[in-house]
Amino acid sequence: MNAPQKTPALDFPAFAKGLYIGGDWRAAKSGKTINVTDPSSEAVLAAVADAGLEDAAAAVDAAAAAARGWRQTPPRQRSEILRRCFELMIARADMLARLISHENGKALRDARGEVAYAAEFFRWNAEEAVRISGEYGLAPSGANRIIVDYQPMGIAVLITPWNFPAAMATRKIAPALAAGCTVILKPATETPLTAYALADLFAEAGVPPGVVNVLTTSTPGPVTNAMLADPRVRKLSFTGSTGVGRALLSEAGKNVISCSMELGGNAPFVVFDDADLELALDGVMVAKMRNAGEACTAANRIYVQSGIHDAFAEGLAKRMAALKVGEGVDEATECGPMITRKAVEKIDRLVSDAVGRGAKITCGGKKGEGTGFFYPPTVITDVPDDSEMVREEIFGPVAPLYRFETEEEAIERANDTEYGLAAYVFTRDIGRGLRVAGGIEAGMIALNRGLVSDPAAPFGGVKQSGLGREGGQHHGIAEYMEAKYIAASI
Ligand code: NAP
Repeated sequence: MNAPQKTPALDFPAFAKGLYIGGDWRAAKSGKTINVTDPSSEAVLAAVADAGLEDAAAAVDAAAAAARGWRQTPPRQRSEILRRCFELMIARADMLARLISHENGKALRDARGEVAYAAEFFRWNAEEAVRISGEYGLAPSGANRIIVDYQPMGIAVLITPWNFPAAMATRKIAPALAAGCTVILKPATETPLTAYALADLFAEAGVPPGVVNVLTTSTPGPVTNAMLADPRVRKLSFTGSTGVGRALLSEAGKNVISCSMELGGNAPFVVFDDADLELALDGVMVAKMRNAGEACTAANRIYVQSGIHDAFAEGLAKRMAALKVGEGVDEATECGPMITRKAVEKIDRLVSDAVGRGAKITCGGKKGEGTGFFYPPTVITDVPDDSEMVREEIFGPVAPLYRFETEEEAIERANDTEYGLAAYVFTRDIGRGLRVAGGIEAGMIALNRGLVSDPAAPFGGVKQSGLGREGGQHHGIAEYMEAKYIAASI
């Protein structure tokens, strides 16, 4: 678990050429930089530019200068450029996966999965870009025609988290470009190199200068607020914590900017007595352990019906204990480190709190010591309902089990949260599965499977998990378009 410090196997400075603004690479006006650390080895990988207010203004200027040309670019041409972005990402998949694995720490197999998922947003939106259509009809009064045209909103500010450095960026950039918007991406400070590696392929794919701009900053609040205060910015798409999302909603409200919010989750994973045990165990390993638990869709509360509880707990502990923990870039690793030491401290606090209230650890449960930000795969049973981890996102490889008796109780406890992003249900009774899926308050339900994310399906949450959807037929692009209605007398 104590990963040895290794020399990075990639030429990281190649992706740390400065801010990407107007198709050029430039240093921050202040000359300041931010170090990027490998969570496995704690080695500094590279230093990226630290943008301030002047740089943010330059990025908005660049996006504004490119806006007219891009919205007038024919959809077919935009589509072909997006298709080339997809092809270039696939051609560079191995390099991108290694880069993600280094700066985020996730196991290489998870990073490869992320690159494939991330690239798919370019392909999917290349296909959607040419399917944006309007409406034409006769008004009920017969007095005029109703014409509805869908137009790009304008400049979009995109803010992304560290847990999926490629996918959260492409899930926003691709539909925004398909719709005809120009964008400024602000990636998370912990994982900026992947965003710059993506920026590196845009010019080659034919994206005109200024259509995509990327900036990194150690002062995200002031830099973002300054961009949102510019009346030329008309869209904010944010993925991150609910707390920051709330603050950004109120900031965007000042200029009445359209907001899409992909926020935190607290996913229930419900296993009924009649579930296929092996299928449920396969499912929970994906829902809990993809990205070492650092996913907004991660199973955060695992509710297991009494009749199957003990067999499920035993099977899960066996599988979790067998996982290989190690450096993200090691091919054999199944569970990499957490993003920061602070993240490990938070997990440790949540586990100690639950144990202090009477929960029992059946595997793991002790944070790593030494180099790297490691926490072992952990299973906890008999977690009391007043434990902090019932309400907070664990965001780590800890699987807490709760026992339940009835279907009504499962739905009620699943819904006892301010969040409503994803939920998982395992049962052989399809009627019950659909009933419970209908009763759980979440934007996405996985029935007898551990994975929901799909570029072809609308991703997003209800309650305090967010506003709007990404991906899906029309949904993702619609977030970047406005309906213009023309009443025409002909
Ligand atoms: P975070 O702390 O909210 O940060 C997300 C992004 O917002 C980062 O780029 C961050 O920049 C930036 N940011 C922080 N404070 C800001 C401010 N005042 N103004 C503007 N931007 C600001 O979240 P995180 O820890 O990176 O990511 C984990 C969270 O994201 C979890 O809650 C997870 O559930 C959620 N998430 C949701 C989805 C979804 O689709 N619903 C997907 C993935 C993750 P810095 O890096 O510089 O702080």
